[in-house]
Amino acid sequence: MNIPFPKGLREKWAAEAGPTTRMLIGGEWVDADDGARFACTDPFTGQEWGSVPQATETDVDRAVQAAHQAFEAGVWRHMPAASRAAALRKLGDLIEARAEEIARTEVRENGKLFSEMYYGALAFASDARFFGALAETVHGYTIDRPLPGFSAWTRREPIGVIAAITPWNTPLNLLGWKLFPALATGNSVVIKPSEVTPISTLMVGELIAEAGIPSGVVNIVTGAGAVGQALVSHPLVDKICFTGSGATGAKIAAIAAQRHARVSLELGGKSPNIVFDDADIDAVLAGIASGLFSTAGQACNAGSRILVQQGIYDAFLDRLATLARNVRWGDPLDPGSQMGPLSSTAQLAKVTSYFDCARDEGLRVIAGGNRPDHGGFFVEPTVYADVAMDSRLMLEEIFGPVAVVISFQDEAEAIRIANDTRFGLAAGVWTRDLARAHRMIEAVRAGTVWVNTYRVGAHTIPFGGFKASGIGRETGIDALDAYTEVKSVWVNIS
Ligand code: ADP
Repeated sequence: MNIPFPKGLREKWAAEAGPTTRMLIGGEWVDADDGARFACTDPFTGQEWGSVPQATETDVDRAVQAAHQAFEAGVWRHMPAASRAAALRKLGDLIEARAEEIARTEVRENGKLFSEMYYGALAFASDARFFGALAETVHGYTIDRPLPGFSAWTRREPIGVIAAITPWNTPLNLLGWKLFPALATGNSVVIKPSEVTPISTLMVGELIAEAGIPSGVVNIVTGAGAVGQALVSHPLVDKICFTGSGATGAKIAAIAAQRHARVSLELGGKSPNIVFDDADIDAVLAGIASGLFSTAGQACNAGSRILVQQGIYDAFLDRLATLARNVRWGDPLDPGSQMGPLSSTAQLAKVTSYFDCARDEGLRVIAGGNRPDHGGFFVEPTVYADVAMDSRLMLEEIFGPVAVVISFQDEAEAIRIANDTRFGLAAGVWTRDLARAHRMIEAVRAGTVWVNTYRVGAHTIPFGGFKASGIGRETGIDALDAYTEVKSVWVNIS
C-alpha cells in the first residue's frame, strides 16, 4: 500500500491553534450544558492541543432522548434496507476521502504509528461499506404450519438505543464495529469515545448528515468515565456495546443487569504466542514486532505472553532481546518509526509501575525495562525471561510493549500454560507441524487463534473473547445478531 506520510506536519501543528470541537446531539453541534471543556494531549510532545466539551448528565440525557425519539419516529429503521445500505456506503466513501486527515488526528490523540492508523482508517471505511451490504441481508424465516391451523415466521428487528463506548487504542475501528452493524439494522446510537481520543470520533460525526443518516440517529457525547456511567445508567438505553478494561466492563455489566439491558463486551487479553521448536523463527519475530511492539503493546490482542519450547529457548531469547533493543521508537508520524509513545500519562504510569514490580519480583530483564529520556510518553520495548506463572507480569494485562517469556517441554505443557489465564482473547501458534497446529487450534481457549501469523484481521471475520476477555462477537455477519431482537409471529389461519 502506498502510504502518504505527511511532511512538515509537526511544524504546522505547532503554529496553529488546535480544534475546539462540539458534541453532536439530535443533529445539532452543541457545547456542554455548563460550557465546561477539557483538552487533549499529544503523547509525542506531551503538549495539550484541541479541546472538547465535558458533557454533563443533562447532555447525556439529551443525547439519549434524541436517539430514542429518532428510533420512535422510525425514519431510519423503517427506511428500505437498500436506502440504509446506500447511506452506509456513502459514509464509507466519505471516510475514505478523509482517511489521511482522520489517521493524523488519531495519531495526534493516541500516538500510534501513522501507518497503522492510516491502514485502520481505510479499514474503517470498508467496514462501513461491508455493513451497508449486510443491511440488505437482514431477514427472518418462515416455519410452515408449526401446529395445525397456524402459520409462523420470525422477524429481526432493531433493539432501540445503543450506547457505544470506545477506548483510545484503536478509536475508530472499534467504533465502526459497533456503529455500522447498529445502523445497518436500524438502531439509534449514542457514542461516548474515550476522553483520550474524542476528536477523531467527532470528525466522523461531521460526515453523518452528509451520508444521509437522519438527525438524532447518531449522537456523540464527550467526557470520561462519569459520562460513560451516566450513559450506561440511562433507562432509555437498550443495549451497551463496550470495548475497554475488564474492570470497567464488569461495572457496566452490573449496571445493565439491574434493568436487563443487553451488553456486548470486548475486554482485555494476555494472549499467548506459542513457539514450538520447529517454528520459522524469523516469522515469529516478525509476528512479535507487529503484534506487540508496533502498537507499543496497546492492543487488546497483543501477543505479550511468549511460550517457547525448551530446545530453542536460549537461542530464541537472544534473538528476541536483539529485536526489542533494535525497535526504532520515535515520532509516530515518521515513516522510519517502528513504535510510538504510550497514549497518556495514565498509561505511562501504569506501564512503568510494572517495571517497578518486575524489579521487586527480581525478574530477569533481557531488554528495556526503563523510560528513556524523552518529553513524550515513551517506554523501552521490554522483555522479561523465565517469568513464573504467578508473577503479576504473567497474570495481568500491561498494555505496554512488554513481553514475558516462559519455556515449556512439550505440547501438553504448552496447552496448560496457554490456558492458565483468566483471559481468552487470542493466541498465536508457531509450528511447521500441521497436525500439531490443528490440535492446538482446538485446545487453546481463545476467541481467535492465529497459526504462523499474528494480529491479522478482516471485517468478515468475527472478533471477541472467551472467559474474562468478553461477551459476544464483533464484525463478520454474526455482528448483526448483536444488534437485533428476534420476534416470532403466529397467525391463526384456520
Ligand atoms: P482504559 O483504562 O484503558 O482507558 P477504560 O475501560 O477505563 O479503559 O475505558 C474505556 C472506555 O470506557 C472509555 O471511553 C472510558 O471513558 C469509559 N469508561 C470508564 N469508566 C466508565 C464507567 N464507569 N462507565 C462507563 N464507561 C466508562
